[in-house]
Amino acid sequence: MTTRKFETEVNQLLHLIIHSLYSHKEIFIRELVSNASDALDKLKYLTLTDEAFKSLPFDPRIDISFDKDKKTLSIADTGIGMNEADLMEQLGTIAKSGTRNFVAQMTGDAKKDSNLIGQFGVGFYSCFMVADRVDVVTRRAGEDTAWQWSSDGKGEYEISGAQRDTAGTTVTLHLNDNGIEYANRWQIESIIKKYSNHIPFPIHLHFEDVRYEGKDKDRKEIKEQKVEKINEASALWKCSKQELKDEDYKEFYKSIGHDTEDPLLWVHTKAEGTMEYATLFYVPKKAPLNLYYSDFKPGVKLYVKRVFITDDDHDLLPRYLRFVRGVIDSEDLPLNVSREILQQNRVLAKIKSSSVKKLLDEFKSLAADAEKYAAFYKEFGRLLKEGLYQDYENREDLLELVRFKSTGAEGFASLANYKDRMQADQKAIYYVTGEKEETLRESPLLEMYRKKNIEVLIMDDPVDELVMPSVGRYKDIEFKSINRSDAAEELKTEQDKQEEKKAEPVIKRMKDVLGNEVKEVKASARLSDSPCCIVVDEKDPTVQMQSLLKAMGQEGPEIKPILEINPTHEIIKKLESVQDDRLFEDATRLLYEQALLIEGAPVKKPVDFVRRLNSMLGRAL
Ligand code: ADP
Repeated sequence: MTTRKFETEVNQLLHLIIHSLYSHKEIFIRELVSNASDALDKLKYLTLTDEAFKSLPFDPRIDISFDKDKKTLSIADTGIGMNEADLMEQLGTIAKSGTRNFVAQMTGDAKKDSNLIGQFGVGFYSCFMVADRVDVVTRRAGEDTAWQWSSDGKGEYEISGAQRDTAGTTVTLHLNDNGIEYANRWQIESIIKKYSNHIPFPIHLHFEDVRYEGKDKDRKEIKEQKVEKINEASALWKCSKQELKDEDYKEFYKSIGHDTEDPLLWVHTKAEGTMEYATLFYVPKKAPLNLYYSDFKPGVKLYVKRVFITDDDHDLLPRYLRFVRGVIDSEDLPLNVSREILQQNRVLAKIKSSSVKKLLDEFKSLAADAEKYAAFYKEFGRLLKEGLYQDYENREDLLELVRFKSTGAEGFASLANYKDRMQADQKAIYYVTGEKEETLRESPLLEMYRKKNIEVLIMDDPVDELVMPSVGRYKDIEFKSINRSDAAEELKTEQDKQEEKKAEPVIKRMKDVLGNEVKEVKASARLSDSPCCIVVDEKDPTVQMQSLLKAMGQEGPEIKPILEINPTHEIIKKLESVQDDRLFEDATRLLYEQALLIEGAPVKKPVDFVRRLNSMLGRAL
């Protein structure tokens, strides 16, 4: 017998699980049954595809038994099993980097944390919520030796040789005071029905039935061991829609999605004809917290003729739909599809493309209910924007689905609504990008648009900055960023042009002062109340984009901004007649620096800025 220590993270995790998932302790049954089902899936696949496993006996089943007096509960499967190395690796360490994130994400809110458990794949350890000691007796299919793994979940585990006649795994829990309630036929049955009814393997419950025979003093108590299949054991996605009730869909979602909440919606499709397949997709109510991690595991499982193939293929749906969970089951793929084949497979490509269309259609119907859609959009809207540049084929549809904050509407505006509100002679859809909504709404860049009653979309999500330039247009209307210098060109009237001419000398003087710090100083028609603003050249990244690139470690060449001035503004008018060069320089620099600040860019030398400001204050007071 060897005793080993758990990896540090396992210890930390055990502690957290036991303390935070307390009000949901029943999920340990779901987790153990789901592990058993995975193990059966794995062996089933091998017996169908691998010569070495084809001749092995395979009677797929899960058996649950309990003993109230001995305080035990066992879950046994005839699946792939584990050898000594597997045991150490799978149950003694936490192989997945996601687990560290899990620990970091624990919120202390039992409901949220119990959802996290499934997402990060740390399900097995949940059994220590209800057990003082857990024994795992297991034998790997195709191998002769069986092993026992034992632990009290307090830092160490033991592994020793054991006896098991067939391949598979038996997990025995020695229940503690919190767990004893689960040594009960009705409890187990109702939990299985709730979470694991549609696991595609039979789950048998072993229990003792007590009957009475005879009357009065002849009455005898007869105890009988019984075994009953307690789950549906059918692949739900293969059933016809008519057979299924909403409750069935919801329960199935909870078992495959490791979620305690109902899904927001589902889309069930059964295609027959040239291609035969079934898909069942779910959208959760809440976005998983790790959605933006690079190691996020997508939630769609691929089956071929009801045989589980993989849940680790990132391309079953496009990346931006990674929040969708569910099942794709094809009748037309070979069972031993390799990853490479999957990637180029035409059958799968077709299923994928029609699945995406179905899902987007479903989102469109959801959009008919503004309130519901807002809730959905809050969770997943950002991913739909990702879709705008990832999925060219469906861009038109995605453009109907994205929403933006706007100067022309409360809450979120759709592009269709924006289009309806456009001015008769308006040529483009205008948007402004930046970090904070409040700053953007106050930005001098907006002044003239506001005056002319032209709506501007407020884009304060960093992803907008990446997405919008690649999108180009909505229907036949161009998108224009008003952070760029040429956007305001078309606002210019004859009078503006005359003012611009008059301002030429002061502009030249200002340019001489600022020298190489700016790309250009020019007159603008976009300002009405502010003296000046910062914009960028048509092809240059905006200020926010520059800091985004910097954050991603991509420091490009320094981009010089353009200073636009308002030739009719009082300060600019006064500046025209300033003779004192020192005063002119201070004023010009202050104008430039305030424009930078409003744009969210840092001033280069705060000390000089403050000195200039104070000298001006001194003069004014
Ligand atoms: P997950 O199932 O999400 O990977 P778990 O902590 O529940 O995480 O299980 C860890 C690993 O232990 C599994 O990935 C699997 O390799 C192994 N395992 C657990 N239960 C069984 C079982 N009944 N049969 C075979 N392997 C199992």
